[in-house]
Amino acid sequence: MFAMYELNDNLFNHRRQRHQPKLKRWRYAGLILTYRCTAACRFCYYSCSPQATGLMSAATAIEAWEGLVRIAGENAKVHITGGEPFLYFERLSEIAEQAHQLKLTGLDSVETNADWGENEREISDKLKFLDSVGLDRLKISWDPFHEEFVEFRCVQRLSTIARKVLGPERVLIRWEHYLTHPSGIRSKNEPEKHVILQEALKSDPCRFTGRAAETLGQWTAQYPVEYFQRQQCQNALLSAKGVHIDPYGNVFNGQCSGMVIGNITQKPLDALWKTWQPDQDEFWKILYLSGPCGFIDQACGIGYPLREKYASKCHLCTDIRRFFFDKSLYSPIITPKDCYGKY
Ligand code: SF4
Ligand code: SF4
Repeated sequence: MFAMYELNDNLFNHRRQRHQPKLKRWRYAGLILTYRCTAACRFCYYSCSPQATGLMSAATAIEAWEGLVRIAGENAKVHITGGEPFLYFERLSEIAEQAHQLKLTGLDSVETNADWGENEREISDKLKFLDSVGLDRLKISWDPFHEEFVEFRCVQRLSTIARKVLGPERVLIRWEHYLTHPSGIRSKNEPEKHVILQEALKSDPCRFTGRAAETLGQWTAQYPVEYFQRQQCQNALLSAKGVHIDPYGNVFNGQCSGMVIGNITQKPLDALWKTWQPDQDEFWKILYLSGPCGFIDQACGIGYPLREKYASKCHLCTDIRRFFFDKSLYSPIITPKDCYGKY
């Protein structure tokens, strides 16, 4: 049995009354092994691409894993994602093997775009190895956005072999229906692609952060900024249930990419959880109390061009942060460059 923290071990929670919402205990961590990817999907929550960089060290990964176990005990769930983690299979294996030897909680999943699924023997060997060091599930990302970059035959081959090696219940395809009905987007012209992608967005909405905000935000922008006036981010910040940690050790709250709570190369993850008070620091306090609208006066005062319409609160948030990033404001919270498409 692993020990775990009490909710009141967090400084913010300690000050809260019984009935007030508290910062949840983080119980999942997505380790972003690299920002590098074979694809450059329009709806990427970061700005992953073949030009992007970063590679998490095994030491950083294990440090993150151990920190999460100290926070959440046996409920700690770690998944490895990217970018495309199979680009660095040796490092992925090293991390999974070390965690297994240290008897940390098992590796919940690895997320892949399947682009490496060319060679049957190689696929089988890699999956058998990951299975032997505790991998629970393989998650294959597949939809028209990925289909723009990834060969369908690779996804078919990987999913077929993975189901044989791991068993069908341990292979998740997001989304299965595109496996039986691929969109054929690669042979379409740009206006036709837009139609296909808009349809995909309607059935599986995405959060407009990272590249998704830049490339897709305007497609579905329908709300003037006033619409978001009373939409603060208290719930998103307190209820995230987990974090993503990037190759450099930067910790993002839940899915809020490009905003750093702290860095685990400087402070262990459990110490970050214990000391994070989203209503105290200037930057987080604005989001906590007012959401991204809280930045508008400051941003417009230094030249931020307010758009007529936004797709969502997160689109507005990312757009303003991108502007702040270019002006080096709120550093080191608004970072890294890999979330803002600057390599
Ligand atoms: S969404 Fe996934 S596959 Fe697509 S660019 Fe981002 S990390 Fe790569
Ligand atoms: S508006 Fe910003 S802080 Fe709030 S949930 Fe969206 S990305 Fe996160």
